[in-house]
Amino acid sequence: MIDQKLLCRPTPEVDESFQSYVERLAFYNHVKPQDLLLFSQAKLKYPATSREQKLSILTLLSELTEYSESEDLFDIRLVPKEYKTLFDFDFKKVCQKCLYDRAYFRDIWSLKNYVVCAEHRTPLSSHCLSCGKMFSFESAFLKKCDGCNSHFRGTSNAQSVYDPISEYIFKVFDGSDSALKEITKKIKQLQPYIRLINNGRFENIESLRKGNLTGFARLQASSAELMLDNDKSVEAFSKYLASKVNKNEWSKALNGFRDVTSNPSEYEFADVMKRTILERTGDIGDGAISYDLLAKIWKLDASKLTLAIQESVPDEVLIKTGRHKIRCSDFTNYWEHILAAYSDLG
Ligand SMILES: [Zn+2]
Ligand SMILES: [Zn+2]
Repeated sequence: MIDQKLLCRPTPEVDESFQSYVERLAFYNHVKPQDLLLFSQAKLKYPATSREQKLSILTLLSELTEYSESEDLFDIRLVPKEYKTLFDFDFKKVCQKCLYDRAYFRDIWSLKNYVVCAEHRTPLSSHCLSCGKMFSFESAFLKKCDGCNSHFRGTSNAQSVYDPISEYIFKVFDGSDSALKEITKKIKQLQPYIRLINNGRFENIESLRKGNLTGFARLQASSAELMLDNDKSVEAFSKYLASKVNKNEWSKALNGFRDVTSNPSEYEFADVMKRTILERTGDIGDGAISYDLLAKIWKLDASKLTLAIQESVPDEVLIKTGRHKIRCSDFTNYWEHILAAYSDLG
């Protein structure tokens, strides 16, 4: 039992991240977080990576501060493995308006897809606009950039953005595993729509998020809106395919959507793909599509589908060269026959 108390003992805030609280305690007592551990006889490690270590740190903190509320604070270091990809561990983003009101890190800010403050509707930021320095805990506690001293303001000219995903996360997130499960599901469904809005490209999205949060917030917001509208999604996907018409083979254009084509039953977006191929609205060209890919999207057995196509599509229509492929228009025209032949195969 320690009889010393820290001289400065700020109280934990309910929506504060655990790391923020530890950093804040250390900051106001002019020490480093690691120095706080020296008060304990036990050998402690910060940040804790196991429940036991965490319990010892909590005991220490409650002895040093007389508050026990820090045990309720959300700690990303102890998030179950399956939810780790939801979070940024080193990259920090903040709402300057929130900080202006109360200077501590909100737990929700570490969620990668939480990019627009639900309270202020302004995109979060990670870097100082004046000098480009990345925000630190110190800058948050001092309400100013620790590079150039420019102060955070309660008002800004930043354009407000309505992002349904950030709003959703704000509504659902309470630090519990079940909330993280819900958020994971939502983000997974969103991925193909983000890719579609980003013209089929995915590799640059992560750097966009880290380099230009406002740009990413807009991309995410439009993707979320598209996700709610099946007709518009089909239209957008048709446009996307039309833009790839000269690639002749759709399989290539669909490459960016492999997550969906390899697990169609897990994605709502698979229905957008099916509808786009069957309805053929707009100038989506007449690309050839491989039997394999069709089998994946429709979740059919590839060899049975091959037989069904060969049985129901006239010989002169079938593409004879190369891998098994069929022109999209032929697939659409013979779709019902193909489906019938497929079910006849039992
Ligand atoms: Zn805010
Ligand atoms: Zn600065």
